[in-house]
Amino acid sequence: MELTRLPFYQLHKLIIKKEISISELVGAVIKKVEEIDDTVNGYSFFYPEEALEQAGQLEKNVDDKIPPLFGIPIAIKDNIAIEGKPLTCGSRILKNFISPYSATVINRLKEQGAIILGKTNLDEFAMGSSSETSIFGPVRNPFNEKLVAGGSSGGSAAVVAYGGACASLGSDTGGSIRLPASFCGIVGLKPTYGLVSRYGLAAYASSLDTIGPLTRNTIDAGIMLQAIAGFDPNDSTSLTAHPKTILKSIKDCRIGIPEEYFPDDLNPEITDAINNVIEIFKPEIKELKKISLPGTGYALAGYYLIAPAEASSNLARYDGVRYGLRIADNNTYVKTRDEGFGTEVKRRIILGTFVLSRGYYEQYYNVAQQVRNVVGDEFKKAFNCVDVILTPVAPVKPFPIGTLVKDPLMMYHCDSFTVPASLAGLPALALPVKDGIGFQLIGPWFQEELLLSLGRFYEKSIGRI
Ligand code: GLN
Repeated sequence: MELTRLPFYQLHKLIIKKEISISELVGAVIKKVEEIDDTVNGYSFFYPEEALEQAGQLEKNVDDKIPPLFGIPIAIKDNIAIEGKPLTCGSRILKNFISPYSATVINRLKEQGAIILGKTNLDEFAMGSSSETSIFGPVRNPFNEKLVAGGSSGGSAAVVAYGGACASLGSDTGGSIRLPASFCGIVGLKPTYGLVSRYGLAAYASSLDTIGPLTRNTIDAGIMLQAIAGFDPNDSTSLTAHPKTILKSIKDCRIGIPEEYFPDDLNPEITDAINNVIEIFKPEIKELKKISLPGTGYALAGYYLIAPAEASSNLARYDGVRYGLRIADNNTYVKTRDEGFGTEVKRRIILGTFVLSRGYYEQYYNVAQQVRNVVGDEFKKAFNCVDVILTPVAPVKPFPIGTLVKDPLMMYHCDSFTVPASLAGLPALALPVKDGIGFQLIGPWFQEELLLSLGRFYEKSIGRI
């Protein structure tokens, strides 16, 4: 099999056995990017020379004790800080900004000897579901260039899907890892909120933001998670201790299927695909249970009040004084923000400012917080009688570039099945089924391992390596 197609846990074995060299691997991946990325537009910044040089250095230290990410070329979403590299968030306002420090996740990957190949394209400030609003232009789906790659971590998903990186990091606030992973046919994991440090992630909605891996399979996702997870004193929401995993064997597992995620008008192709997945699990698990999470219908509205509210506050720092773009004018603040932010970002800032304003706060923001509590409580109750919840990742398949970007409400609708787990801070794993359709496993806090082992069971059942 072609090197750029293999999961990296297998490449790691080949590197240790010296069947391939790190330079050979990095060279093959670079070649892929050079062939394909002009079309896909997954990378905003690409560092082939640095990567090859690092590969040459690492090569000298290969032995059978190297960590699993040693010499593995990976890509990083361009809203995660790397010292000395641009951090644009796909926005004009940060176009020339160079990060003075690295995110904790970057330091952790580097400690293992991972090679950072470049920074990936995204929706401006990670606000979107299609990766079309970046100053660098849209990301195209590697399987069909007329279609979107999903968003907002579209670049991170696309490059892993076409072989332009062995794995990547994305961020997921309301689905931005899971949706593009599905649209591009790869695995995406949104960890439990607080498990992975957000230090060095450009904030969108701080109470929802998470960083997680996009990979070719669940083993790689587990390795990436292990590398980046853990307490970080630089992030005040980073968790110090967490309960031991309650990992059960598959045959003791009870899977819940929530009726609200299968509305009558769901695209039948999606229903069929997910039903096939359910059929694969059914004979192997303890129980398949139909459940109800009635708050689901309010989750999207709640999310689209809370996320913009937090965004309006977080993005206040881009003021033409401290960071990035400055348009000198007798009204610098207004001018800089007007020219620096794109339409969707402005829409969110206006909406967020509105829902936080006096007189409307109780009516909108408070109610959204109540919705958030209801959604969380319903999940908690559900996890008294099931171990995991299985749903489609999205109510839509990859759509043509240029269509939904003109229709924000339709774009928001793509996130209907991903935002509930985000509001509740739960871990959720997206696995590809076919044609840009994916299924999602949602678990109780910290049960990533359970999700990954169920995901692995599925991969093996369908013969995926
Ligand atoms: N599409 C959602 C939004 O625009 C989620 C984005 C994300 O997870 N970063 O807010």
